[in-house]
Amino acid sequence: MAKKEAGLKVGGKVVPISNLEKVFYPATGFTKAQVIDYYIRISSALLPHLKNRPVTMKRYPDGVEGEHFYEKNAPSHTPGWIKTAVIGHRHREGVIRYILLNDLPSLVWSANMANLELHTFLGRVPRVGCPTMIVFDLDPGPPAGILECAQVALWLKEIFASIHLECFAKSSGSKGIQVYIPLNTSTNYETTRMFAETTALLLAHQHPDLVVATMAKDIRTGKVFIDWSQNAEHKTTVNVYSLRAQWETPSISTPLVWSEMEVALKKGDANHLYFEPEAVLRRVEKFGDLFEPLLKMKQKLPKEYQVPTRKRGGLKKKKTRVAAKGDHSMDAYLAKRDFDQTKEPPPSRKKKRTKKKTGDLMFVIQKHRARRLHYDFRLEMEGALRSWAVPNGIPFQIGDKKLSVHVEDHPMDYAEFEGVIPEGNYGAGTVMVWDIGTYQVLHGEDPVEAYRKGKISLALHGKKLNGEWTLVKTRSRNETQESWLMLKKGENVRPVSAKQDDRSVLSGRTMKQIAKDRDAEWISGS
Ligand code: MN
Repeated sequence: MAKKEAGLKVGGKVVPISNLEKVFYPATGFTKAQVIDYYIRISSALLPHLKNRPVTMKRYPDGVEGEHFYEKNAPSHTPGWIKTAVIGHRHREGVIRYILLNDLPSLVWSANMANLELHTFLGRVPRVGCPTMIVFDLDPGPPAGILECAQVALWLKEIFASIHLECFAKSSGSKGIQVYIPLNTSTNYETTRMFAETTALLLAHQHPDLVVATMAKDIRTGKVFIDWSQNAEHKTTVNVYSLRAQWETPSISTPLVWSEMEVALKKGDANHLYFEPEAVLRRVEKFGDLFEPLLKMKQKLPKEYQVPTRKRGGLKKKKTRVAAKGDHSMDAYLAKRDFDQTKEPPPSRKKKRTKKKTGDLMFVIQKHRARRLHYDFRLEMEGALRSWAVPNGIPFQIGDKKLSVHVEDHPMDYAEFEGVIPEGNYGAGTVMVWDIGTYQVLHGEDPVEAYRKGKISLALHGKKLNGEWTLVKTRSRNETQESWLMLKKGENVRPVSAKQDDRSVLSGRTMKQIAKDRDAEWISGS
């Protein structure tokens, strides 16, 4: 079944490659081999832009029509020769180990991971707080499209010319355009973000019929949203020459020439602003790297825009703070999520304790329709929700045992999360609070102690479940996932009816209703 993995010799390394014949873009039959080939052939133009910039991977293991997911942390099987950078997150606990694609073997490895889209920081390691450029992400609200973006890009260019700043544009490879101002001088995100926001507001004021500077989706119809908020330390933007996975044909985020935007605008012809891999390779051969100024050109923003850097310790201090706290229980939770995308709660810095006075600890079971339907069983322990995914449902009869895969701790706030995790994010799908209540570990045993021993005998007092169950650790599946069993103990209980099974204990909604009510992503205001 599994084919023997092949290896590609590049840059003195043998990079494992697999599934080369798999079609990644169905409209043109563009295969994984062609994805890897594109990244190899564009590498001399692309690599200098990637150098030392942390990358958020967006992986499409089955091509653009299959499931995809973001991955920030370097996977456990990342080869040792791939450089990584550990970045502390100021407003969240924990750290993320990002990959850096600094050389050809690393780039080939990334392509083989089906990391089609390369999303990178605006700063470089180790000075991640110092962006080397400002980005204006022009995002059209249909029926507006790339031509309207070209118009807005040309207006931006005029504004910047009036204050003696040069800028450069590229297609996003999707529907929009990004305009960049190279800086390559000392600055900070407070400065670049304020400058970007001010510019966006100015242009929205000058052209209210075509430009908006606020996020709200409903006012975007027929207009171009200038997303200035990308200018932030942990945000990533699609890198120049990255493939995109928006359509069934491969498209590339491609540097544009101002005159070709003018011509496209005059002719009303959007087609000239989209580029497929071969076209991009030809352009680079002919014109060289049109984005080279982003690497070299030194510019400074006018004095009135400069915000002094706040003293906040820098990267080293941040790492020390996290290490000193000695608490990494939320690392895995954090690493899998992009809180700009999902409404799931970020961990709070101070861990909450619920119902401490009575000595009762909280349990929650969430029904989760992700790639596969399962129940997430969570127990309050050490200020977090220790968690197991139970794919085959809860056992109700003595002797029943259900596989329970131990997963990462979730923050206490997660107990009341109900709603939809958006497409493209970890665990994408509908989440329902299926049952909630308190639990006690039997025989007066300490919960954490019982957990460490690998056998937790509990009494659950929920709205659906009441009675005794036991969680037992079996064997290690691999380094990161432990397999446990959930067993029914005490007495048999009547299985939850199908109707009950499909009702939230918090909102009374069914899975369908939750999926439909995309707006109500939070049940409680807490
Ligand atoms: Mn889940």
